[in-house]
Amino acid sequence: MTDAPLTWYHATAPVAHDRPALSGSLRTRVCVVGGGLTGVSTALHLAERGIDCVLLESERIGHGASGRNGGQIVQGYSADMSKVESAVGAEDAQALWSMMREAVDDIPDRVRRHKIDCDLRWGYLHAAYSARQMDGLKETAETYAKYGYEGCEIVDAAGLGRVLGSDAYVGGMLDPDSGQIQPLAYLRALAGVAEFLGARIFERSPAVEISRGTTVSVRTDTGRVEADWLVLAGNAYLGKIFPPIRPRLMPVASFVAVTQPLDRDLIRALFPQDVAVADCNWALDYFRTTSDGRLLFGAGASYSATTPPGLAKWMTRRIAKVFPELETVGIDHVWGGLIGITANRLPDFGRIAGNILHAQGFSGQGMALTGLAGKLMAETVDGDDSRFKLIEQIGHLPFPGGPFRTPTLVAAMGFAKLRDAIGL
Ligand SMILES: Cc1cc2nc3c(=O)[nH]c(=O)nc-3n(C[C@H](O)[C@H](O)[C@H](O)COP(=O)(O)OP(=O)(O)OC[C@H]3O[C@@H](n4cnc5c(N)ncnc54)[C@H](O)[C@@H]3O)c2cc1C
Repeated sequence: MTDAPLTWYHATAPVAHDRPALSGSLRTRVCVVGGGLTGVSTALHLAERGIDCVLLESERIGHGASGRNGGQIVQGYSADMSKVESAVGAEDAQALWSMMREAVDDIPDRVRRHKIDCDLRWGYLHAAYSARQMDGLKETAETYAKYGYEGCEIVDAAGLGRVLGSDAYVGGMLDPDSGQIQPLAYLRALAGVAEFLGARIFERSPAVEISRGTTVSVRTDTGRVEADWLVLAGNAYLGKIFPPIRPRLMPVASFVAVTQPLDRDLIRALFPQDVAVADCNWALDYFRTTSDGRLLFGAGASYSATTPPGLAKWMTRRIAKVFPELETVGIDHVWGGLIGITANRLPDFGRIAGNILHAQGFSGQGMALTGLAGKLMAETVDGDDSRFKLIEQIGHLPFPGGPFRTPTLVAAMGFAKLRDAIGL
């Protein structure tokens, strides 16, 4: 008997070969901990530069957020560019904007170069529930134009029907340069390329102990890796293994449901332009169609890492609020995943003790920025940290620790959800 697939992505992605667990001792230039988009991108860019590296993944490649996410490629950072500007100043904010654009462009570039079959599609709708949210979208479009991207189109209620078959929203912002992808298929292909170029990848090999020094030592239950550099790419799944970076990140659960296949005419009526969609709430709904004609719908934000009981029913009710005609639709797949959130919603890149790099906290917008994270960490190892430093300079407040950690988040999320509900 085989296990049920973890997600719809696992059920449909090209099969990945089983990789061995680490056994015995190895020496390498760079040890990467974590086999999601950040870790695999790091390994790939290192391998392309001819730098030896070993990647350790606790489970299988794509076990974390990268194999469970909404598959939405969204331009921008998870916080407004005004926050980026106040964190790094106007000049560096422009550089961060350009790097974000590069991160988005790198995806189709990789897909073309490596001929990856991952259902990449373009077109994205930010949907507004209120006039206040519409004002926010207009401001976003103006800000993007100020940074040099003029592609966003504001759509009012009357025009929305040509984009989305739902009466739930008052309008939105269409962005042709954001889109969607099968994230696990993309990730598995990148891991294959990294391996082909010489990266050594071990699965079911959780790092359980890290010793610092000019040579970093990473122990697993069955082996040890010694390296000049360590890259921590475990994000919300890293847990307690490296305490210095833990307070800067809060893991928040989000959930995804995939319906049974829908009638083709219904899909065309609901998604006339086949765009991916997200609303503007803090605890947002995000959704799109799959390559096999289903609705993939993500929602929720919870401080608990456990999947709540009755999740499929709860998700169906969320879906029906947007698409009442799907009130009785069957759900074939449902799962949860952990998003690593920072206090200011900007990514947390850093360097500790000279030779330990980390990148985490993409705050729900990591599909593109993780690729950039790996690229910049490889550049740093190769002697040029100028671009890494541009993001590293962003300051991050710690979340409280100990017994206050969860209650603080619950209070913060309660406030955010209340704000969504009353349209503040
Ligand atoms: C439900 C959900 C929906 C999302 N939707 C979107 C979206 O639509 N668009 C978007 O841009 N972003 C989205 N995100 C966020 C996005 O998925 C993440 O930003 C991105 O995948 C982070 O990649 P990562 O490689 O940093 O971390 P992960 O993908 O979480 O990878 C970390 C890996 O490290 C491994 N690991 C942890 N500790 C150890 C250890 N000690 N030893 C070895 N391995 C270890 C884990 O097993 C895991 O595989 C979503 C996230 C979730 C959870």
